[in-house]
Amino acid sequence: MIQLPQPDAAVLARRGAIVEALRAALPGAVIDDPAETRAYECDALSAYRCAPLAVVLPRSTEEVARLLRLCHDLRVPVVPRGAGTSLAGGSMPTQDAVVIGLSRMTEVLEIAPEDRLIRVQAGRTNLSVSGAVDGLGFFYAPDPSSQLACAIGGNIAMNSGGAHCLKYGVTTNNLLGARVVLMDGSVVDLGGPMGEGPGLDLLGVICGSEGQLGIVTEATLRILPKPAGARPALIGFDAAETAGACVAAIIRAGIIPVAIEFMDAPCIKATEEFSGAGYPDCQALLIVEVEGTPPEIDEQLALIRDIAMTFDPVAFRESRSADESARIWKGRKSAFGAMGSMGDYICLDGTIPVTALPTVLSGIGDLSRQYGLAVSNVFHAGDGNMHPLIIYDANTPGDLDRAEALGADILRLCVQVGGCLTGEHGVGIEKRDLMAEQFAPADLEAQMLVKDAFDPHWLLNAAKVFPLDVSAPRRDRRLNRPADAA
Ligand SMILES: Cc1cc2nc3c(=O)[nH]c(=O)nc-3n(C[C@H](O)[C@H](O)[C@H](O)COP(=O)(O)OP(=O)(O)OC[C@H]3O[C@@H](n4cnc5c(N)ncnc54)[C@H](O)[C@@H]3O)c2cc1C
Repeated sequence: MIQLPQPDAAVLARRGAIVEALRAALPGAVIDDPAETRAYECDALSAYRCAPLAVVLPRSTEEVARLLRLCHDLRVPVVPRGAGTSLAGGSMPTQDAVVIGLSRMTEVLEIAPEDRLIRVQAGRTNLSVSGAVDGLGFFYAPDPSSQLACAIGGNIAMNSGGAHCLKYGVTTNNLLGARVVLMDGSVVDLGGPMGEGPGLDLLGVICGSEGQLGIVTEATLRILPKPAGARPALIGFDAAETAGACVAAIIRAGIIPVAIEFMDAPCIKATEEFSGAGYPDCQALLIVEVEGTPPEIDEQLALIRDIAMTFDPVAFRESRSADESARIWKGRKSAFGAMGSMGDYICLDGTIPVTALPTVLSGIGDLSRQYGLAVSNVFHAGDGNMHPLIIYDANTPGDLDRAEALGADILRLCVQVGGCLTGEHGVGIEKRDLMAEQFAPADLEAQMLVKDAFDPHWLLNAAKVFPLDVSAPRRDRRLNRPADAA
């Protein structure tokens, strides 16, 4: 079981006064009724939950600054929250923390197609950013499968990716600037309309920092002209390892499809029942999408077909219509929801070199048999970002522990082959205690020094990312500090 740190008893004892101070600072924005804070007890890592001290829903950077200054002065921990879709427990609160939710901050502040940018408040959903520029012929590239719900601030905190990131990169490659409120309430602008400017690259530090360094309230994002067209092909194989080898061969040939997605047999079956996408009956499936003008698409798909044929696929089907393309993607995009019908699951997020795919897929099969738990795979194969889903039964005592131990072994395998613990979902509480598998003590210390600089009292999301034993002296320093009376 994942450990949570003990809440700060001194903060809990002052709960009433803290809530009153929050109300005085931001009337009409504070939720403290346990029936209403329930919705904020967990994120998409729903096996873990905890009621927060209170929830506050500000509407502007100025209001976020007012709240952080207050929590800083009262020495009250804070958990930033976008839409709560984190799969790593990143936005799960602790009992002594005030959740600052950005769901009311959804405005579009500026659209400048000539400069290829859009500026939005951080609570705006990912999909609605593309929606705001669609009519102008533009789109925002990072496309997490949760894009209907997840917010841009959460995407920046987790450096999120998606199916189309093979070609366009993840959030950090499409982020030009951010307005960030630091824990003491000061407001800083990082980056800007032109992206990287002079000075230290603090935007790069903030992107992927998992709510450890400040709260992003506004984001300036790169928008791209919509491609002339795009078309996927479905390729079915009789073994997962063969599909993995085919991915490596496509990349080695120098073709950069816009996406290469992988699904294994259990996932294909569940998805097919859920969405009726018309997937072939096989052991592994690739969705390879290319884009460009019709002749460019034809040429790239012909090359991919030639490569695929050398692996004896059991099916190769190019989409011939917009409807067919939409159906193919609907299946993939609904895969996580469909897998829910198989039982409870933990969704892992390791990244490996593409050439290690066959080895790691067969290693996962071995570990799955060893632990006696089914593992299904659906992931962004082109960039080596794997999402093994471990199926378990939350009602069977010990099953969650076994699933977590299996997950840890799979992530260790990713690190052993030269990969890393997370591709896009972040560390959160889920992988916090595995960080030592990837980083030497000096590496972790360097990262914690950055946190010290931004958040000296360790008030922001302090139970996340860093192993509890490694970060304990710093968190204790905060706990032992005499807090101002609320
Ligand atoms: C079905 C499903 C599919 C998914 N598919 C993908 C995928 O394809 N790719 C992918 O990358 N992820 C995916 N995810 C994970 C998740 O959607 C992303 O991590 C997403 O970026 C989280 O955004 P959110 O707004 O929900 O953030 P939250 O869950 O609310 O928060 C995530 C983290 O960011 C911090 N945070 C939130 N807002 C801010 C802010 N404004 N400033 C500072 N810190 C902040 C929180 O403290 C927390 O640590 C998926 C999740 C689900 C449930």
